[in-house]
Amino acid sequence: MFKKIGLHETDVAAMTKYSIKDIYGAYRGEFQKVPLRRIVWNNNGQPKWTFILFLALHRKLQTKERIACWANLDNMDCVLCKQENEDIDHLLFECMYDKQVWSNLLAWQNIRREVWNWKHEVQWAIENATGKTAQQEVYRMTLAGGVYHLWKERNARIFKESSRSADQVVKQLIREIHVRARRVSRLDRYMKDLNFYP
Ligand SMILES: [Zn+2]
Repeated sequence: MFKKIGLHETDVAAMTKYSIKDIYGAYRGEFQKVPLRRIVWNNNGQPKWTFILFLALHRKLQTKERIACWANLDNMDCVLCKQENEDIDHLLFECMYDKQVWSNLLAWQNIRREVWNWKHEVQWAIENATGKTAQQEVYRMTLAGGVYHLWKERNARIFKESSRSADQVVKQLIREIHVRARRVSRLDRYMKDLNFYP
């Protein structure tokens, strides 16, 4: 079922069969919180991006911190920086690798503020990015795509021993957002202004 939305096994690594079924059911069902639903469902990003975003918003990504609740892990290090323990807050927003990715993505969107933590970012998204303007639509796609690519990068380093620089991740995501945005004609003019790499 994950293939349908373009996910590989490593994207949802280390989940039990039961939890996959459970989570996918919740994903297709109703969200409890309406603002979060707007961020995920009113999102023109790739389905696999919004699915990973959904898991992240519900803190269901199987980070080492979560796995350590039921298994012994020798190494709790974040594979992006190898300096801190891997939990969802660190992995998605607080790692220095993430800061590079997000600060470039904010600059690209002309959003002038620093990179916050995950909780604060979600709060900002709920307050500022659930509407229908082109900038809000692109922000939601970028949030989903960024979370997806950071999760993918983490898995590539753990399972495939391959890695990309933060700059490579940013460029790839920007290209992919342009491709997705072509599906939405009202974004045309705005995307022309974003036709550059930060
Ligand atoms: Zn890190």
